[in-house]
Amino acid sequence: MNAGARDVVPRRRAPGLDIAVVGGGMVGAAMALALARAGFASALLEARQPPPWHAQDEVDLRVVGLAPSSVDLLEELGVWQSVRESRAGPYAHMHVWDAASGATIDFAAASAGQRQLGYIVENRLLQWRLWQALEAAGVPCFCPANVSGFEVREDRIQLALADGESLAAGVLVAADGATSPLRQLAGIATRGRDYAQRAVVAHVQTERAHEHTAWQRFLPTGPLALLPLADGRSSLVWSLPEAEAQRVLGLDEQDFIDAVGVASDFRLGRVVASTSRAGFPLKLQLATRYQAERLVLLGDAAHAVHPLAGQGVNLGLRDVVELRDTLVAARAAGSDLGAAHVLRRYARRRRSADTLDALGFDALARIYAWQSPALVAARGLGMGLLDRLAPLKRRLAEHAAGS
Ligand SMILES: Cc1cc2nc3c(=O)[nH]c(=O)nc-3n(C[C@H](O)[C@H](O)[C@H](O)COP(=O)(O)OP(=O)(O)OC[C@H]3O[C@@H](n4cnc5c(N)ncnc54)[C@H](O)[C@@H]3O)c2cc1C
Repeated sequence: MNAGARDVVPRRRAPGLDIAVVGGGMVGAAMALALARAGFASALLEARQPPPWHAQDEVDLRVVGLAPSSVDLLEELGVWQSVRESRAGPYAHMHVWDAASGATIDFAAASAGQRQLGYIVENRLLQWRLWQALEAAGVPCFCPANVSGFEVREDRIQLALADGESLAAGVLVAADGATSPLRQLAGIATRGRDYAQRAVVAHVQTERAHEHTAWQRFLPTGPLALLPLADGRSSLVWSLPEAEAQRVLGLDEQDFIDAVGVASDFRLGRVVASTSRAGFPLKLQLATRYQAERLVLLGDAAHAVHPLAGQGVNLGLRDVVELRDTLVAARAAGSDLGAAHVLRRYARRRRSADTLDALGFDALARIYAWQSPALVAARGLGMGLLDRLAPLKRRLAEHAAGS
């Protein structure tokens, strides 16, 4: 049976469920699988059927840079090998340069004790492989299932589905994305800011090879990244002010590839071809708390960050590890999995770690938006210094790798 057959899984009440995960994106699907592998009675509820991935399909426009910590988790869950063998672009180097000051920083996997800094993987591929693994593990997946509400009882949480069905679990994990309806129903507020920017994404063919390097140029208008795809092309992620992004999205193909060539400083030579484009609005959004009664937030439902550090999913997968370990420890101690003190441990640890990272990425976005000559010079000096400070650079690379 393939994952496409999931929607025929009969709807039924699952009274013995330890944990219900709502949202079957990359983070929620990994959570449900990690819980099942740890021996919990868990189920996944997802509103939309995930699109199947086929090797002959065009590479999905949405890709993520998976850090070594994420690869470790996927390996542990038994899905990494199939992702790696399907289509994953490894990169061992990162080259960052500042358009205004000309300063550069180079990161190498070897200096962080790693073989790779990460892998560029299609969102759709990763989600599909996770769903296939869920199916093989016999995890109940309710799809399409739109969770419309919930009610907290003494020993469980009762979920209401839009079609009138209901389901009970000891803990509800909300992995329902940045707009998280469950976060809103739980009355959890968010803080952050709208960058008034949009990331323009496309896959581009360049004159020169990408050399398995992630290239990132900081422009006054926002960062432009060229991420190495497995097929030799590069995935463009170009953050621009809203109006400029709309203009770039509307260019004809020749004007677009010329514009990407100029904006990337022809670092990989001329851009010779491009796929279609898409634009994604950018914001910083952090939930003010990750926990409510018998409920926790996970992934983008808890935190949405600027893609300049390519860490959104990686943070989400670190949430997965922390929550799984917290629940395993609670089970070993004989505690109620949904007890406030249990969920608080996860919520506190991940919220403080995510906040530090999110504010760090935000600070970078602000620093690279500086345009006054004095500040640009200071930024260039700082970058030059960082590039020469091997221990600090190594620590940064290790942190990005998830250690
Ligand atoms: C341009 C761009 C580039 C990026 N690059 C990177 C990168 O290089 N590296 C990286 O780590 N991250 C990157 N990110 C971030 C990354 O894409 C997100 O962090 C990630 O997709 C979030 O996954 P998620 O599973 O938390 O949420 P989502 O993918 O949003 O999944 C949420 C799921 O919940 C379901 N759902 C919602 N409400 C309900 C409901 N009521 N009932 C049932 N189901 C529901 C939805 O259908 C959806 O499938 C990037 C983001 C952007 C915009």
